[in-house]
Amino acid sequence: SREVHLQSRPQGIPKENNFVLTEATLPNVGKGEFLVRNEWFSVDPYMRGRMREGESYVEPFELNQPMEGGCLGKVESSNNPDFQEGDYVLGNQGWRECWISDGEGVMKIDSSAAPPQAYLSVLGMTGMTAYVGLTQVGNLQDGERVFVSAASGAVGSIVCQIAKAKGCFVIGSAGSTGKIAWLKENAGVDKAFNYHETNNISQEIAELSPDGIDLYFDNVGGDHLQGAIDNMNDRGRIVCCGMISTYNEQDPEPGPNNLFKIIGKRIRMEGFIVRDHMDLKDEFVKAMQSWIQSDQIVWKETITEGLENAPQAFINLLSGEKLGKALVKV
Ligand code: NDP
Repeated sequence: SREVHLQSRPQGIPKENNFVLTEATLPNVGKGEFLVRNEWFSVDPYMRGRMREGESYVEPFELNQPMEGGCLGKVESSNNPDFQEGDYVLGNQGWRECWISDGEGVMKIDSSAAPPQAYLSVLGMTGMTAYVGLTQVGNLQDGERVFVSAASGAVGSIVCQIAKAKGCFVIGSAGSTGKIAWLKENAGVDKAFNYHETNNISQEIAELSPDGIDLYFDNVGGDHLQGAIDNMNDRGRIVCCGMISTYNEQDPEPGPNNLFKIIGKRIRMEGFIVRDHMDLKDEFVKAMQSWIQSDQIVWKETITEGLENAPQAFINLLSGEKLGKALVKV
């Protein structure tokens, strides 16, 4: 079975030669175990954090071991009565063709409700991150003014549409003209701007939302965060989901330069990790299925074909060369 290993820790922007494709011989399928052949896996920004040594909220990847991450595959053979041949299952053994499991942490999915890979994006952790961040951490209220960064991305695009479904005024930022067009035409956001075309994000937000913003969903950090703080209304909330503008930095740049405004405006800023909120999973799935059925939420995937092209898919994810959820079709 082929698998992708991390062979060296990236310095700055990851390169293809930080990864290597290898062939592994899998052991026999033991008692209570089953063999899964992956069809899909996702590449995600948090994986950049796992490529460094040192403390974070997830363990670093080990060098010369298969990479990990959300994946979806079909059970090929099984000695476990709970998992039958042909079942679609979600696991965390991405970046490889096949894996063996005893069922721990593996979930069967119903592939009749949506295309199976939707469980790696809109109906999976990605959609749930958007849902939990907005409704629990951000306590979003109907009709508020919401700003979303990395708005055309996997999480951001769902955040924008949940907020629209709740009657909010939504502004998004993203990194290309095509992404801005998609946000306005497909995701239904009210205003959007390309942050590469401005050197003053704060002013851009002020022009697009003269009445300020009540909730900022931060995927980016840095000058996006400062621009949001400048434009927050009193008692506004900042949901800290990610800070991708810092992920490739060796020594992080100084952050926002006017945090004092947090005091005057009584802003609440809170970070969260989606996996702490798994108790909301059923509520999330129900809400998301209903938004999908009523066409209030659409989603987009950028698919890279071939396990061997996964490192490039990951590099493209970080540089923004994709729309919506970045997936690899094995
Ligand atoms: P995305 O699909 O949004 O992909 C990342 C995008 O970020 C890129 O495509 C790029 O798009 C944008 N980007 C990259 N560098 C910069 C930069 N310097 N400034 C502004 N934008 C940049 O990924 P996800 O939706 O999976 O994740 C979005 C964020 O949410 C990440 O920060 C991630 O770490 C975080 N996250 C947090 C979770 C949690 O539990 N807290 C769970 C899941 C994700 P563009 O062309 O627009 O620049």
